[in-house]
Amino acid sequence: MTSYTIALIEGDGIGPEISSTSLAVLEALRTRFDLRFEFRPSPAGDACKARTGEALPQSSLSTIKDSDACLKAPVGDTAAETIVKLRQMLNLYANIRPSKSLPNVPSLRPGIDFVIVRENTECLYRGMEFEFDGGVVALRTITRVASARIAKHAFELAEQRDGARKVVAVHKSNVLRKSDGLFSQVCREVSSQHPSIAFSEMLVDSAAMNLIRIPESFDVMVTTNMYGDILSDEAAQLVGGLGMAPSANIGERFAIFEPVHGAAPDIAGRAAANPLAMILTSAMMLEWLSKTRGDASCAEAASSIRTAVNRTLESGVKTSDLGGSNSTSEVGAAVARQLG
Ligand code: ATP
Repeated sequence: MTSYTIALIEGDGIGPEISSTSLAVLEALRTRFDLRFEFRPSPAGDACKARTGEALPQSSLSTIKDSDACLKAPVGDTAAETIVKLRQMLNLYANIRPSKSLPNVPSLRPGIDFVIVRENTECLYRGMEFEFDGGVVALRTITRVASARIAKHAFELAEQRDGARKVVAVHKSNVLRKSDGLFSQVCREVSSQHPSIAFSEMLVDSAAMNLIRIPESFDVMVTTNMYGDILSDEAAQLVGGLGMAPSANIGERFAIFEPVHGAAPDIAGRAAANPLAMILTSAMMLEWLSKTRGDASCAEAASSIRTAVNRTLESGVKTSDLGGSNSTSEVGAAVARQLG
């Protein structure tokens, strides 16, 4: 039996509910795929800060660093002190946010299947804000190194995907001539090393419009940190909403997996949270473990989770955000049953 240690951040708001539901699905893989997960609690977020004075205590950081991967539920107001910090500290430079139409889910159009590849370590998210002359200045950093590695990641992802195999670089280089000018220039340079992938560029305002107008035309979108953050909420809404949007924060040797959505305090404690974003996030974690450890059973387990999610949706079991009437744990139990 293969065993993996997974640091678990249960988070705030709906975090604990969707965490326990997703863990039950991962536990159900144990017998079928001979896979075992040792979940290591790693407190972080609002409740942790209220209790310990720190949103990301050193003990949690050590647990995360010592584990094979980290599965993270959303935290509330302390996101900048937890996940944004973790992305920078652990150099998790690629934020991968897929949007895909799934069966029996309200979607803008059928056939949507694209991925946003968001640069995760720089741009405005370095948090460099200064009071200046009666106002405030926020520094936006764009470097050649970070732009080149995220562009390379996007092209390599496009090469692995079925179908369209195209990359669009999204920026605003007509206004931000130097910063987005550098990002777009580096994307063009990297594109020349990947001749089998079609490459184009789009201004971020056009990208926001085209995601509504022709979402099925996108394959891989590569962009800077803040544009990627904003566009990925829009992208989630195209395929059923934030409850359907998984994501991965990937570095050279480590990765943290988390749903795109926040802690959703408006529905916390009501058993109404859609656990599928977190369950699909778990599938992304298994795919990454399979790729980095060469473990085929993880890839099979991920594929089995994806099939089980589709079957669950087809059977009509879903939470109210998708027009259903099932609770968080009922959806999780249905997915676990469908694993076979
Ligand atoms: P953050 O600033 O932390 O990203 P946010 O302001 O984007 O958070 P969310 O917490 O993501 O806000 O919630 C936005 C809306 O989406 C809320 O109405 C929330 O209830 C809904 N929502 C988010 N996640 C889910 C989910 N898993 N299931 C159902 N509804 C959700």
